[in-house]
Amino acid sequence: MKYYAIIVAGGKGNRMNLAVAKQFLELDGKPILMHTLEAFNQCVLNPEIILVLNIHQHLFWEELCIKHDFKIPHQVIKGGQERFDSVRNGLKNIKGKAIVAIHDAVRPLVNAELILQSYQMAEEKGNAIAAIQPVDSVRIKRDGQDSEALSRDELYLIQTPQTFQVEQLRKAYLQPYRNEFTDDASVVERAGFSIHLLPGDRSNIKITYQQDLEMASFLLKKKGF
Ligand code: C5P
Repeated sequence: MKYYAIIVAGGKGNRMNLAVAKQFLELDGKPILMHTLEAFNQCVLNPEIILVLNIHQHLFWEELCIKHDFKIPHQVIKGGQERFDSVRNGLKNIKGKAIVAIHDAVRPLVNAELILQSYQMAEEKGNAIAAIQPVDSVRIKRDGQDSEALSRDELYLIQTPQTFQVEQLRKAYLQPYRNEFTDDASVVERAGFSIHLLPGDRSNIKITYQQDLEMASFLLKKKGF
């Protein structure tokens, strides 16, 4: 079987209000994105890495790779308008039978064990979606209504990697884009496939706000990466 990792880094990272996209911010001496690629490179299944990057950042990334003497093999392809479009572009580069992990560039703390479990479960069941349960109490508030408590025992927070047999992705990504497609599981589910959750990792945080970067730096040191 052939294994692939599509690392989506096509976003602009608006929520941090930065000139440079968040995947390029330095975490312990090198860009976040390099930590992410290294994690996949450490997986024993030796996945082929496809990096999806905004076309305007390709040259910048090349320069960063030279600056940091970054040698992990990967192909760089152009991102799209939405995450959905970026994943679809990545998929076009995969031919034949494969298991494909899709991972947010801004989750650099993903560990090789979770990546391996994700590939194995997807190969067996069709897909594997990393998820953790909330520790906070959760309420839902709909427009014009009072908020209402939800049972947190029934809720899951979805992470990446989200890993699939490529046939599922090929069928799912023929659909037109919808606003509610915030991840790959939602796209594949809408195409009619059952979604299989895999226990994720609380350290596998998505760097979105400034505090997340500080937390990532702390976790990285603790893990001794
Ligand atoms: O937008 P969000 O924070 O959910 O993005 C998750 C991941 O998707 C990020 O790694 C981001 O770079 C990527 N993305 C992308 N192409 C876009 C928008 C987001 O690859 N057009």
